[in-house]
This record gives sequence, structure tokens and C-alpha cells, in this order.
Amino acid sequence: MAFPEYKEFRKAVLTSQARQISNSFSKSSVIEFLQLPLQKMTQAEAIRLLLDRCLKRQSGRIYFVNAHTVVTSQRQPEFKRALTCADLLLPDGSGVLWGSRLLGRPIRFNLNGTDLIPALFGMEEAKELSVYLLGAKPGVAGEVARNLKQAYPNLRIVGLQHGYYEPNEKEAVLEKIRNAKPHILLVAMGVPMQELWIDENAKDLPGITCVGVGGLFDFLAKRVPRAPYAIRYVGLEWLWRLLVEPRRLWYRYTVGNFIFMGLIARRFWSMIRKEPFARQS
Ligand code: UDP
Repeated sequence: MAFPEYKEFRKAVLTSQARQISNSFSKSSVIEFLQLPLQKMTQAEAIRLLLDRCLKRQSGRIYFVNAHTVVTSQRQPEFKRALTCADLLLPDGSGVLWGSRLLGRPIRFNLNGTDLIPALFGMEEAKELSVYLLGAKPGVAGEVARNLKQAYPNLRIVGLQHGYYEPNEKEAVLEKIRNAKPHILLVAMGVPMQELWIDENAKDLPGITCVGVGGLFDFLAKRVPRAPYAIRYVGLEWLWRLLVEPRRLWYRYTVGNFIFMGLIARRFWSMIRKEPFARQS
């Protein structure tokens, strides 16, 4: 079977955590983390919320926030603005969970898209969903579609587009997406390009939930190996990714991680000194 690890994840979500779901999502809340409003909810709640939004044909801008996203947002005001205009910001990765704990407002659930999106597609109601795949190198989205169809035969994939089209092709790409009328558009162009793309174009894609999913297509196409479950469990997926693609990712996971720790340390220090501007809202 194509994605045994997602089945395992989905089973865990559907059994133990499904019991925690309340219809009103009363346990979920928003936590300010380094000036970004992140959703605090279980994986099961996040899947339910995404599914409901898609099936109600709500337009939306949904992004996953990891350490790399936070560091990039501190350097690029336009990207930070795009993040704060999102409909949902979902915490992604051990760095954000660890940082939130240190800053006294812990986020317990890692809602990374690489687990969440396949788990969403595995839900019973997902057979009503139509999906459009935008991003990654030419040929990758086709491989993703084939693998997804194998794993989730009822899922409807209504269009594909690689992420390296020319700027003058953008209107044609948007038109193709609008005509396909997907419930959900997965945009896999990496941070910050995908969030900026969604921020700019979501208004022209009514009734479509747009989700930035980073390297998800490379994983689903099996072009890049995902970290084994044990490595993910101990919070070292970033180290795995660094070892798999050192040339592309060395800066992000060495310098970037240090900058991220510096941001946490600075906020932590300000909190200790009880400076008014540093208090979490
Ligand atoms: N990508 C793309 N268009 C571009 C640049 C990148 O579609 O102009 C794709 C790239 O092929 C890869 C993804 O964006 O599939 C970036 O993956 P990465 O793992 O860097 O995502 P991140 O970790 O930033 O979320």
C-alpha cells in the first residue's frame, strides 16, 4: 500500500483523539507565538475543521508555521503580513512546540501538513472532496496524483500544475484552477513563495480552500524520503531532512535554527525582565 505511515497516523487520530473532539471546538484556541497567531487544537480537530471548511466551500488561506517560517517572517515584512492575513495558521514541527513551551504558552499538537493532509484524504467524507495540485517540479504532481489515487481511490483529483510556470502564464493557471472548481488547492512551492502566491491569488479563487504544503509533493511522489516514524517522534525530522538534502537545506537548518533559538531566547529574556512589550497577549 502506498502510505502505510499515514494510515497508522490516521488510525491514531481517529481512535484516541476523535474522542476529544467537541462539536463546538471549545478546547481549541489561538496562541500568540512570536507575533503569529497559531491554532492550538488536536490533529483530529484540525482535520475536522479543514474538512468542514472545504465541504462548505469556504474560501481560505491556510498555512503551516514551522521554525523556518518564523525566521523568514522576521526578515520579510511582506511575508509576515501575509501570514497574519491567514484564515488559519497551524503549528508545524518540534521547534514551534518546544519554543511555545519555553515561552509559557505550550502548544501540544504538531499539526504539520505532511501528516495532516493525507489523514484528511483518508476521512470517510473526503470522497466528496475535489483536489487540485499546484507546485513542485514538472512531473511530480502527476506522480503524487497516481499515488494518492492508489491510497485513496475515492479522492477526486481535478487538476495538476507544476510550480515553475512563467509569470506571464499566471492568469491561464488561475483560469484552469477556477474552471476545475476544486474544494481544496494544495500549493507546494516552498516557504515563502507559496504563502505569497496564496495571499495574492486567493481572492480570485472563490470557494476554494488554499493550503500551503511545502515539500509535501516531493514526499508523496517518493522523490524525497520521509524521516522514519521514530525520528519524527523524537523531534528530529529537521536533522533527517538536513542529511537527505544538505546542499539545499544546510542554511535553513544550521543558521536558521540558531536564529530561531535566538528569537526564542530574546523573547524569553524579555518575559523574565517583565518588559510590557514582551508579554504574550
Ligand atoms: N518549488 C516550486 N516552484 C518554485 C520553487 C520551488 O514549485 O519556484 C517547489 C520545489 O520543487 C519543492 C517545494 O517547492 O517541491 C519546496 O519544498 P521545501 O521542502 O523547500 O518546502 P518548505 O520546507 O519550504 O515548506
